[in-house]
Amino acid sequence: MKNICFSQNHYGHFDIQLLTLKVVMNTPDSTNQQIPSRNHKPISQILARHGLNLTREKTTCLQINTGLVCNQSCAHCHLEAGPYRLESMDLITAEQVIEYAARNSFETIDITGGAPELNPNISTLIAELGKYTQKLMFRSNLSALNNRQNDQLMELLRDNRAVIVASLPSLNQGQTDSQRGNQVFARSIEALQRLNSLGYGKDGCELVLDLVSNPTGAFFPPSQEQAEKKFRQTLHRKWGITFNNLYCFANVPLGRFRKWLKSSGNLDPYLERLASAFNPCAARGVMCKSLICVSWDGYLYDCDFNLAAGLPMNRRKTHITDMQRKPLAGTPIALADHCYTCMAGTGFT
Ligand code: SF4
Repeated sequence: MKNICFSQNHYGHFDIQLLTLKVVMNTPDSTNQQIPSRNHKPISQILARHGLNLTREKTTCLQINTGLVCNQSCAHCHLEAGPYRLESMDLITAEQVIEYAARNSFETIDITGGAPELNPNISTLIAELGKYTQKLMFRSNLSALNNRQNDQLMELLRDNRAVIVASLPSLNQGQTDSQRGNQVFARSIEALQRLNSLGYGKDGCELVLDLVSNPTGAFFPPSQEQAEKKFRQTLHRKWGITFNNLYCFANVPLGRFRKWLKSSGNLDPYLERLASAFNPCAARGVMCKSLICVSWDGYLYDCDFNLAAGLPMNRRKTHITDMQRKPLAGTPIALADHCYTCMAGTGFT
């Protein structure tokens, strides 16, 4: 799932700046409006210096963004998802996505959002897509999954052997609630306990429960190895929770996080820090070489970050109904400064 090129400090020797991240309020139509930054080197220049030219290889993963509706409004969200958003995959588009998955063979199908739990067609998507792939992945913020109405959804995920990738930014209740909203930590812990009770995250069980943690500001995450150890010990000791893997990712400078970086004067320093941590090994393994992402309205992107940035695949808006097969190997990938995040340290997949 990830490109491990460094094993100690994933992002090198940079100073950690603990900054308080405040939520920048935004309008619902602002997702695709990148605030420009001028002082960093273009990603193409860094790639050229390392003799790298990123193009698509064999596409093995179909990622589906079901929409921007979410019960949370996280300060770092690159898609600016939230309760006020209206974008949501309708049944017609869901059926078109299912037909595309049936026509093509994807090793992995990755369902994300917003909060995919809140899409009215999510049960259909899980049940149908589960037929066409060996590995179904479901990304959850946990609090949206912890809803009595979603008991059936947890069972459907289990029945389809879906890998659950759950975000849990921190082991600290105050930090989590300030980043994600009141009571989010408690609801997340309860969701993990319920997933464990269904057999997820247990040694020797094929139901995989992975966690994702990200920083609460313009700094890089800690060593993944150490963080995983701490999460494992603390979650088990305090709440009896077990999980399979923890992944630590830096925040992507897009959407709500980019607005905050800009307004707090941190955009250029953050981009420069990412660029300084450039790792050719991570750049060679970026997920966009093997992934295609479809948005809630059926358009295709090289990844979810390019979707947030409004950068369509091949820089041309293509609807999934106009794409019979997978994109061809050798197709150029649309790159921009947010790509530094995928190529810094151990990368981001
Ligand atoms: S952000 Fe850029 S490098 Fe990362 S997956 Fe998307 S296109 Fe590739």
